[in-house]
Amino acid sequence: MLRLGFDVGGTYIKAGVVDTNLIKIVSRRIIPFPSDASYTDVAELVYALSSEMAAELKIQNCRFKSVGLALPGILNEDRSVLKRAYNLGWYDAPVRAAVQNYFSDVPVYLENDANAALIAERHGALRGCKNVVLLTLGTGVGSGVLLNGALLRGESGSSAELGHVRLFPDGPKCSCGNRGCIEALCSATWLTEEGKKSVINSPTSLMYKKTDGDAGKITPKTVFDSAKEGDGYALAIFNKYVDSLAAAVAYCADRFNAGAVAIGGGISMAGFFLFSALKARVKEMHGCRCRILPAMFANDAGIIGAALLYKFQ
Ligand SMILES: [Zn+2]
Repeated sequence: MLRLGFDVGGTYIKAGVVDTNLIKIVSRRIIPFPSDASYTDVAELVYALSSEMAAELKIQNCRFKSVGLALPGILNEDRSVLKRAYNLGWYDAPVRAAVQNYFSDVPVYLENDANAALIAERHGALRGCKNVVLLTLGTGVGSGVLLNGALLRGESGSSAELGHVRLFPDGPKCSCGNRGCIEALCSATWLTEEGKKSVINSPTSLMYKKTDGDAGKITPKTVFDSAKEGDGYALAIFNKYVDSLAAAVAYCADRFNAGAVAIGGGISMAGFFLFSALKARVKEMHGCRCRILPAMFANDAGIIGAALLYKFQ
């Protein structure tokens, strides 16, 4: 059964044709999110990408059984309108109708991106888990909560939106306007910004060497790699990041009495180096015993979860 999954983020649009019997991506595309793109622009791109993948697989667009979109924001109750997505600058955007225009008889489903990732991970790292929180750490921070095996949505679908929980009220400014939110402290954006400051202010840092002094080239991976190699500037950033993430994990475990907290998104690719430090910090600073798991599908979770949305309508 071939279904389309799209993961629309502030940095990239990732597209995939997913064989939902095998939970396998059989064709994929990734393009940068065009700056200032409206929801109608993105609907057009979704169709263009699906046509490309259909041509590659030598089938027609109408052969896909469903189209799913994972979106970085809050949806309305019937999940047809994206009420707000700070990262995209979209408010009250009727995304489902815009995409449906291009796919006449093929059903179109929308879901918050972190919920979509959680749906994917139920077939991966979280198989069998009933009470779990997933934090997806990327440009922003998404979150999904499974309680007694059911997705926590609440009245307006925002009850599991933990990115804007304020951990430290005098922390850095967040995209929502407040200070010290989980998103402001634990996103890839925080790591990139801190890395940039080091490149600009500390020419002796390894991050400076790795980027040839060009702060625009810094990524969270540069920071992690430099920390791994023992660079003091990078280690200071890394340790601060782990402190914040440990506080976020402990908060989530505590608030939902969760048996496990899973970490997904691009940051989860940091692997053992991050997870061993995080587990130690959560235990030592917060006395928290919940399991901390790396998500299995990493950067593919949005695509796979979006393709599996038909199961949750
Ligand atoms: Zn915030």
